[in-house]
Amino acid sequence: MSMSTVPPPEVIYVDGHKVACNGGGGALGHPMVYLELGANGEVECGYCDRKFVHKDHAHEYQSPAPRPEGDH
Ligand SMILES: [Zn+2]
Repeated sequence: MSMSTVPPPEVIYVDGHKVACNGGGGALGHPMVYLELGANGEVECGYCDRKFVHKDHAHEYQSPAPRPEGDH
C-alpha cells in the first residue's frame, strides 16, 4: 500500500463556533461529527484533517500584505 500523493489539508472558513463535518461526502466522507472551535478560532477534523477557521481569524492565514512604512 503506497501513498505517493497526500493532498494538503483543506481549510474551511466558518462564521460560527460550532461546525459539522462529514468529510464532504463521496470517497472522503465519514460519519457526521460536530466540532467546536477552540479559543484560537480553529479546529481540525480528526477524520478528514480538514481545518475549520473562524472568519474573524481568517486574516491570519492570508499571505501577509506589505505594510506601508512611514504612515505615522
Ligand atoms: Zn471531517
